[in-house]
Amino acid sequence: MEKEKAEVIIKNLREKINYHNRQYYVYDNPVISDAEYDKLMRELENLEKEFPELVTPDSPTQRVGGEPLSSFRQVTHRLPMMSLSDAFDEGELKDFHRRVTDAVGDKVEYVAELKIDGLAVSLTYENGLLTTAATRGDGTVGEDVTQNIKTVKSVPLRLDFPEDKKPSIIEVRGEVYLPKDGFKKLNEEREDMELPLFANPRNAAAGSLRQLDPKITAARPLSTFMYALGYVEGAEFATHYEVLEFYKACGLRVNPHIALLESFDEVIDYCMSWREKRESLPYEIDGIVIKVNSLEQQRALGATAKSPRWAIAYKFPAERKTTVIENIIVRVGRTGVLTPTAELKPVRLAGSTVSRATLHNEDYIKEKDIRIKDTVVVQKAGDIIPEVVEVVKEKRTGEEIVFEMPHRCPECGAEAIRVPGEAAYRCTGVSCPAQITRSIIHFASRDAMDIRGLGPAIVSLLLSEKLIKDAADIYRLKREDLVPLERMGEKSAANLLAAIENSKSQPLSRLIYALGIPFIGSKSASILADAFGSMENLERATYEELVAIPEIGDKMAESIVTFFKQDQTKNLLSRLKAAGVCMEAKKRDEGPLPLTGITFVLTGTLEHFTRVQATEIIEKLGGKVTGSVSKNTDYVVAGKDPGSKYDKAVKLGIKIIDEKQFMEMIVQHGGKS
Ligand code: NAD
Repeated sequence: MEKEKAEVIIKNLREKINYHNRQYYVYDNPVISDAEYDKLMRELENLEKEFPELVTPDSPTQRVGGEPLSSFRQVTHRLPMMSLSDAFDEGELKDFHRRVTDAVGDKVEYVAELKIDGLAVSLTYENGLLTTAATRGDGTVGEDVTQNIKTVKSVPLRLDFPEDKKPSIIEVRGEVYLPKDGFKKLNEEREDMELPLFANPRNAAAGSLRQLDPKITAARPLSTFMYALGYVEGAEFATHYEVLEFYKACGLRVNPHIALLESFDEVIDYCMSWREKRESLPYEIDGIVIKVNSLEQQRALGATAKSPRWAIAYKFPAERKTTVIENIIVRVGRTGVLTPTAELKPVRLAGSTVSRATLHNEDYIKEKDIRIKDTVVVQKAGDIIPEVVEVVKEKRTGEEIVFEMPHRCPECGAEAIRVPGEAAYRCTGVSCPAQITRSIIHFASRDAMDIRGLGPAIVSLLLSEKLIKDAADIYRLKREDLVPLERMGEKSAANLLAAIENSKSQPLSRLIYALGIPFIGSKSASILADAFGSMENLERATYEELVAIPEIGDKMAESIVTFFKQDQTKNLLSRLKAAGVCMEAKKRDEGPLPLTGITFVLTGTLEHFTRVQATEIIEKLGGKVTGSVSKNTDYVVAGKDPGSKYDKAVKLGIKIIDEKQFMEMIVQHGGKS
């Protein structure tokens, strides 16, 4: 290629990569997949290799990450926090091994580690005490997230030094991550609240840690694995593995799958075997990190501007499939957000059949130039959410249809407007049936008022028959309204009316959640119910009173105050009250409850309860539910496909009960089953 042409392409690639770096590192909101990003980076690296005179110090190939957000205090790292160079196949792994042995000889031991999909942090301990926690930022300067890190339970505030090693200063580095179920739950809650979804666990973890309000961090189930040494004073180490052993001894969390390997063949085997086994882990990994074990050899190998020469990240290929977008439909959510969704020709992908993929918003569709009838490559983001990676433009026939975001709500015809500063279009119709339908479905859902039999189909039917207009109308339904409805009949009508009647005595926390207050999920609803004790008190709560509750953040408080100010809310609540819906938290009995002092951990899928329901029953009986197994756990309730908590319980000798035994226990103590 001619130099002039390369110059133009390089400039273009740098602009693109810089834009994506900003979206990814600064805003935790990537708009392309990692694989696409890696492809752009590879292209740039190859061109710069061909034309080294065109390399500039500010090229993305020479820089780490993104600049720190100015809203955080900045921390200059004592030693830079670097990135890792990548290997995408066995050949590239072998090239790395050759470079290492060329430089330091054949006697090399490696440590192979899982590449955890989270974000890097550096924890400084002075005389054993945690003094600063910082993100990687641009590698030189990171963000001070000390207060937030202190809410992460696996991070010790004081290190438990062994007798023979007590460094006066030590920078412990590692990854903060969100386990798969935490990521899924967070996104479900965000979907429920119509907030944009996190693209992958890494962005979710970063978004959770880089919060100005540590309360929000505290509410997210973040965890850590520590895997690297930064600056150290007052202690010597000979190998990386020794560092990890020391970390374990100090009470830091170290990944149990780390392996010390003597030959490079073993390294390759490790990489390939984890490609298969990664699904079984309770957290996401996006590859394997291979490090030279001897710290002396590490020093001899040194580093480039961006990454050490003694380590490499082997990146797993994402499983991808090609399919066709049969249509793009627009869904209207509970708060009126219009979300375009691709209807795909069904395809098997990473263990499930995928027939839909969210297209997020107008910008996303434009950026990727996605059209109806396009052949597209799909993958699961973080192996969980199906996404369209790219359009196979070569397969275009000219029949493809450019998608236009509707300017009217597809459900009610009211004008849909794009709110300035937001990527989303919202329906402006005050009585938009889609919004009303979804809010009633949410009201009746399992984790809210739990009205069995009042699912989406019947809610739509009741609305179209004009039998209800909002959630309060449910309580005015009579037998004669229901029986004539299609597929209803006497028995179903009687069951539904009984379920409606029962729901009147649901706990206050469920009612608060059922109201669908933006940003209030079931956990926050329960905190609010405990704190205020009645709907009336909550209605009157001021912003200051709300933010004084540790788990309630700024945005939530504002949302609650705004919600209760609306005439529509006042009207709904007074009608719910008149219908006899319980508006008070139930008083706890004076004496101790049957499960007082007993701690449970839930794992796997229960057949008869959701996690929220099981937790509620245990709490009602005085017990406590925690997220992880420790020696303080009394019972682990194991449903279908239990996770790693089960293994841990076995290891610690904690009593494991199945769902049947759990039900027997609660029946015996007077809880519902
Ligand atoms: P990297 O993710 O390839 O590797 C370095 C990071 O790995 C470390 O900072 C650390 O956080 C992590 N890590 C996890 N486990 C580790 C372990 N056991 N030992 C050491 N490190 C471990 O490099 P990067 O500079 O953080 O990010 C580059 C990657 O980020 C790209 O390859 C791409 O996948 C992604 N990215 C994507 C976009 C996008 O728009 N989609 C934009 C920028 C970056």
